[in-house]
Amino acid sequence: MSTLSHSELKQIAGEYGTPVYVYHAEKITEQYAKLKNAFSRSNARIFYACKALTNINILKHINAIGCNVDCSSINEVHLAIRAGIEPANILYTSNGIAFAEIEDAVAQGVAVNIDSLSNLEKFGRKYGSGYPVGIRLRPNIMAGGHLKISTGHEKSKFGISIEQLDAILSLQKQYDLRINCLHIHTGSEIKDVEVFMKVADIFFELAPHFPHLSYLDMGGGFKVPYKESEQGTDIDLLGEKVGEFLEKINAAYGRDFQTWFEPGKFLVSECGYFVTSVNVLKQSGHTEFAGINTGFNHLIRPMFYEAYHRIENISHPEGAPKHYAVTGNICETDTFAWDRELNEVREGDLLVFYNAGAYGFEMGSNYNSRYKPAQVLVINGQSHLIGRRDAFEDLLRNQVEVL
Ligand code: PLP
Repeated sequence: MSTLSHSELKQIAGEYGTPVYVYHAEKITEQYAKLKNAFSRSNARIFYACKALTNINILKHINAIGCNVDCSSINEVHLAIRAGIEPANILYTSNGIAFAEIEDAVAQGVAVNIDSLSNLEKFGRKYGSGYPVGIRLRPNIMAGGHLKISTGHEKSKFGISIEQLDAILSLQKQYDLRINCLHIHTGSEIKDVEVFMKVADIFFELAPHFPHLSYLDMGGGFKVPYKESEQGTDIDLLGEKVGEFLEKINAAYGRDFQTWFEPGKFLVSECGYFVTSVNVLKQSGHTEFAGINTGFNHLIRPMFYEAYHRIENISHPEGAPKHYAVTGNICETDTFAWDRELNEVREGDLLVFYNAGAYGFEMGSNYNSRYKPAQVLVINGQSHLIGRRDAFEDLLRNQVEVL
């Protein structure tokens, strides 16, 4: 198991300052190997959902270990290409975008999943059968760890509702579309393997309607454990079930389908550590606040969708356990944890947030005119600065002073 020790994290905090995001390359490699192993019978391709963490060095590492990339914006596509990833290994799953982005993606030669009838029609008019296309479907399944990260239910903006199948089929016919991929991503932090198998059942039903169909894209969303007592998605069980499904669907239709997966968190959540320092301790009534030198400008997941991050006081692991509200330094309510047991905290101690690789730095901002934190990659036992901490000039970089 690849983990970074307290002493490694303390050394990095000393060298690069805090707050700092630290990523461990070997952990990403390890997670990818688990997926390859689990899906070895599923004729599977894994596309890293790079919106979780797009630092160019992470993209290069993902490429180096043989993993493909799933992009959510055209800029991510360009970043992936800049990182040296072959267009054939890039998938662009669009949502709510202007058609110009799809044209750009086609010009780059990447695979494209379209999520609205409107863009599908425009695609048909422009490319007809000249470029294959995938369809993102909304299956009307409620899944995922929180409503804000559930994307497959009937009120979700994502995908084309399966109730609109007739409209999809008529566009397929009208424009002679080569629909080669069906895509369903029902949400994030899906523990229950059966959710994926419901998606498989939908693919089974729909496949006969799509003569060019080769790829069955089940999205990402595998749950990772956040607490020591928690279990993630059983990907070995999922791999077995998907393998059985593949045999069944191939035999039923005499075809040779490939399955696609787009994990973000599974690949990079656990590789990340967010190391912060305690600015102030404040006793107020029965609550002791540990005020740290960060806020939701650096890690918004707890405030945005009540995500749990394990926190450890790595400066004082022998301290007596006490309960704290861990809060940030932003002029908003930015509580990371309430009533959390930590080893006695002193001002200046280092508090580490675990599972910080996915949607941590990436969802950050300069709110309150604070600097974005530094990012460090540990690979082969060496630490490298892969993202500088902002400096004052960065706050003004895109501002135009007219007065
Ligand atoms: N694919 C799509 C289309 C997504 O929207 C997302 C994230 O929500 C992912 C993949 C990755 O999800 P996760 O990081 O939970 O694996």
